[in-house]
Amino acid sequence: MTIRIFVGLLLGFAVGLVMHYLPQIVPDSPVDLWIQEYLIDGVFLVFGKIFVNLLKLMIVPLVLVSLICGVIASEESKSLGRLGSKTFVLYLLTTGVAITLALMVAQVIDPGAGANLEGDYERYVPKERPPFVQVLINIFPDNPMQAMAEGNMLQVIVFAILVGIALNHTGAQGKRIGAIFEDLNVVVMKLVQLIMQLAPYGVFFLVGKVFAEQGVDLLKGLGAYMGCVLLALALHFTGTYMTILTLVARLNPIIFLTKMRPALMFAFSTASSAATMPVTMGVVEKKLGVKNSVASFTIPLGTTINMDGTAIMQGVATVFIASAYGIELGVSEFLTVIATATLASIGTAAVPSAGMITLAMVLGQVGLPAEAIGLILGVDRILDMVRTAVNVTGDAVVTCTVARSEGALDQAVFDDPDAVEVQP
Ligand code: ASP
Repeated sequence: MTIRIFVGLLLGFAVGLVMHYLPQIVPDSPVDLWIQEYLIDGVFLVFGKIFVNLLKLMIVPLVLVSLICGVIASEESKSLGRLGSKTFVLYLLTTGVAITLALMVAQVIDPGAGANLEGDYERYVPKERPPFVQVLINIFPDNPMQAMAEGNMLQVIVFAILVGIALNHTGAQGKRIGAIFEDLNVVVMKLVQLIMQLAPYGVFFLVGKVFAEQGVDLLKGLGAYMGCVLLALALHFTGTYMTILTLVARLNPIIFLTKMRPALMFAFSTASSAATMPVTMGVVEKKLGVKNSVASFTIPLGTTINMDGTAIMQGVATVFIASAYGIELGVSEFLTVIATATLASIGTAAVPSAGMITLAMVLGQVGLPAEAIGLILGVDRILDMVRTAVNVTGDAVVTCTVARSEGALDQAVFDDPDAVEVQP
């Protein structure tokens, strides 16, 4: 399956580039129109969207059912509290390290030095963000059905935890209903597996459309910015994550990465940690041996609040924009960026381009014009694909680390190479 998905990805890339450049090779022909109308806005759009919808359709049932089962399995809420605080602290810490690393890389390389950006941007109108108290209140749903219908992940998490705790305290009735949720969990996982059969095709259409629209021209001019983001992402991925895995979790990073491949490819093609979540969950539970009691909590939470890749992009983008506008950033500005980008990553939705919306908040904090976002929007999709893969890896690294410390990681499953080809 992993190989098939990879082939889909490569073919998507190749066909996408052909669709982008063919009209230039055969000018004055209707090819341009056909490609745009029948392929990019037709077949590729339709099948790509259908695939993403199918993935997304799994999110609410998966989080709800799986997390209720996780709480039932952890039995007492004390261990849940410990698990929660450990996970939260690790998520915050890794994001803090990510953004600091990004600022350091951007300071050294100074990607905005040669760029003359003034006046060369589309107007970007940032959305208003609700005040902090409201954000806090909004975590608690007043209507669980609405939370599910809107796909509000934090509210669904809170609801599932409460239902799980209630089931644990309800004796025989709780046990009976709990058993139903456990059966439902098996069915939901099966559904994920069925949808995954379409993965190679879905990936082909998604990646094909991106490259058909963008080509590689857009990459020029902003090359230094992109290189800087990619370098910081690579350093965080290989440095921070692999160090945590090796030294803190005492797990073999090569085995970890080999087994994470499907999740990485999904994240790359969908540019959405939320759409990738069913795959990530399958990988950490089935291939990396993390118990459902941990993964069902840490993965949905991480998908929602842990976005190291996004924070990295925001750090580099801030330095890039400041430098391109000739604005000096001092120590206090850097500290502000670290704090705001960490918070912004919590508030970023796990969907494509969401990091651009919260970037406006980070820029605003240090007095940079939010309109400047228009400059980097053009190249953002490709960076989004890579940073989403980093976001997803961060969730899995913290999950394995927490599971290890809780004695909830089955080393035999983790080490078992045969588990590699088991489908998520
Ligand atoms: N696409 C990212 C994700 O889903 C969020 C972002 O940085 O835009 O993880």
